[in-house]
Amino acid sequence: MNRRDFLFRMIIGMIGMASMSKLGKTLADQADEKIGRMPVLFVGHGNPMNAIEDNEFSRAWEEIGRDLPRPKAVLCVSAHWETNGSRVTAMEKPRTIHDFYGFPDELNAKEYPAPGAPEWAEKTRKILRKATVKPDLDWGLDHGTWAVLCRMFPKADVPTFQLSLDRTRPAQDHYDIGRELAPLRDQGVLIVGSGNMVHNLRLMEWRDKPFDWATRFDSKLRKLIEDRDHKALINYKDLGQDARLAIPTNEHYLPLLYTLALQNEGEKLSFFTEKVTLGSISMRGLRIG
Ligand code: ZN
Repeated sequence: MNRRDFLFRMIIGMIGMASMSKLGKTLADQADEKIGRMPVLFVGHGNPMNAIEDNEFSRAWEEIGRDLPRPKAVLCVSAHWETNGSRVTAMEKPRTIHDFYGFPDELNAKEYPAPGAPEWAEKTRKILRKATVKPDLDWGLDHGTWAVLCRMFPKADVPTFQLSLDRTRPAQDHYDIGRELAPLRDQGVLIVGSGNMVHNLRLMEWRDKPFDWATRFDSKLRKLIEDRDHKALINYKDLGQDARLAIPTNEHYLPLLYTLALQNEGEKLSFFTEKVTLGSISMRGLRIG
């Protein structure tokens, strides 16, 4: 083979490889389309009674469950699981944790026997670079998870697991960890942040009218979310006195950052619940995708 033939064959070979890789990409794209990119949710869970009461929130969660593509698994980041260091539940059968007091027997007796998702837990541990995540066999599903999912997936037939909130980390880290969860979304996992954007239990009252600061701050968050101003939402401490009242401790706020971190540029977003209850608890829920 002379030099010209050699070059010619090499060019033909390169063209062939390029079209092969194009074909490969097309097939991969088709596979992704088939699995589909799951929407992401943030749920304002509020009062645990929403698990058994028929109200505007529980109905909205039921409707979302009917509307969503069926997930392969649900990963919930709940306000009610804070740890030092990150953990992911990895048991086959997570227990239903009744982590509340003073509620009726009917709620205490409620079980949510969804299977665990040890394989997805392992995948989650592998894809997270920002955090070293330990598998956990003790926790289960706390009410931030099951009180919502029992309305969304009442048959309890979707494998469910939780990722803890590492209480030693700043807000930016929670956002960054959330971002790293994106491949799970593409593989059919529904990621749910469960908390409340405005959550002040100390000032909570059995009253119909919300506090002015609570409504004001809830609307401010809505605007920042719509504007995709994630920087301001991560630096919520700079949002003034209303922020201090709305987020006296941040465990109910942080799950929102996981959800927002998964919003791609230009991806649509909608609010499926929005109301401030008990004076100081925002039930705002949002869906991305
Ligand atoms: Zn809560």
